[in-house]
Amino acid sequence: MQTAGSRNEAMPKVLVRPKVFGGFQQDLRKSYLELFEISPSLKYTPEQIDSMRDYLKSAKDYCVGRFKDRATSWENRLQSAEDRLKQITSELTEPRRHKMHCTIQNDRKFKTDAQLLADHSIPLAYENRLAKLDLIEKWPADYQQAKQELADGSYHDRRWADVEDIGFRQIEPGQQDDIRTGEETIKQMKQSGLMPKELDNRTVVDYVNSVGQRVASRSDLRVPLHVTVLNSKEINAFALPGGYLFVERGLLEATDDESELAGVMGHEIGHVVARHGHKLMRRATIESVLTRAGEAAASMATGGAVGIGAYAVQIGFYGVGFLLDLNLLGVSREYELQADQLGMQYAWNSGYDPRGFIRFFDKMASSKGYVEGGSWFKDHPPFYERMVDSEREHMFLPGKPKYIVQTTAFEKMKKELAKVTATAKNEERQRPSSMAPERGCPAAGKTDYKPGEPVENLCSPPETTRLKHFSYRTAIARTSKSGYAKVGGSNHEIR
Ligand SMILES: [Zn+2]
Repeated sequence: MQTAGSRNEAMPKVLVRPKVFGGFQQDLRKSYLELFEISPSLKYTPEQIDSMRDYLKSAKDYCVGRFKDRATSWENRLQSAEDRLKQITSELTEPRRHKMHCTIQNDRKFKTDAQLLADHSIPLAYENRLAKLDLIEKWPADYQQAKQELADGSYHDRRWADVEDIGFRQIEPGQQDDIRTGEETIKQMKQSGLMPKELDNRTVVDYVNSVGQRVASRSDLRVPLHVTVLNSKEINAFALPGGYLFVERGLLEATDDESELAGVMGHEIGHVVARHGHKLMRRATIESVLTRAGEAAASMATGGAVGIGAYAVQIGFYGVGFLLDLNLLGVSREYELQADQLGMQYAWNSGYDPRGFIRFFDKMASSKGYVEGGSWFKDHPPFYERMVDSEREHMFLPGKPKYIVQTTAFEKMKKELAKVTATAKNEERQRPSSMAPERGCPAAGKTDYKPGEPVENLCSPPETTRLKHFSYRTAIARTSKSGYAKVGGSNHEIR
């Protein structure tokens, strides 16, 4: 049996001097927008930056390794509990059977939680940190370069610089050929139970549609835009080929003004315009990518025959956008950059503050966002070029005397949305969970992740400990104090 630490991920070494390290960590917790402002005045040496990069990479491996081990321990414990149940099932009294079912159910939950943290939330937290480190390192020079391009007019040579001709330029021919793919995908998603149900509040739906149509009508889109609002708490929006844009309730909850929403919708419209899904899907069929989505859902659901749709709801911060094949959505590094640029141009051309998209992205990159926005970042991976290219595009777009940021219609939508959210939460509480078929179990005990807590704190690497007094002993003390459940009798100390 594997025990914690057996994967040999070593406690990350800190090579940055302690005096610098703490402040450096603080800077890496700042928002992208703040770092754009302050990075020219930060004076980290190239050696310090390299050491920090090495540190972050090994801290990520360490933390991921610990949670992989944790998932393995739960899996082992789960298996022996299931074996035991099989052996003694005929002798069990009802209360004892109930107790055993509850144990197995909780073990499954902990195993899935640990797996999701190891596979998604923790890597994501560190990817955002690394992107911010790149920003600190590179933005001061890149900013000077952008100013130079503005001064000498060479910014006119960038890709899709002809923003005055939006709506009259050909980004990619054949958009209408994707309509069939989009329709077919939706049909199959509905059949497979992958599609969350639609939100049925007219005010909310009409409002989201009106923002989408406004942006679409001032974009390069040549096919009709179909906007659907899904009643799912997932913080995400995605577009299927051919102009089918899906906005989830969680995303509406996470936006703070209309320019943020318009920015996200502009980005998705950009994918449709540039036919990214079509380009990446060329060799795959819709059946095969949806089968993969089903398998992904099933691999997370360890509890028998569970409808994917039901599971997508229960998985909490993950949902349909999380399960969909990235090829279908046209997600690749290069295509994200293209959709970012087009999206900002479309938001700008519709009168919105083009920085709304950056602000939203930045908000998702907060520690709370890492977890709740796990799905968002899977479909919109964070990396430095993304932030810097968006900021450059913002600099190059002709300024307007006034941008739309907030509207009363947005605020009205938010009020209606609050009612929808309350109802949905209530229903969720009352609905028996198919992931938890045994009713009336005692609470599962402490989960690994507390909402709002920085993900990195889960592992207590040096960054969360006072460095001066740092030793493995204090790390152990911290870990045991933080209330982790002991797993399968294995030792969870840091080695
Ligand atoms: Zn995208």
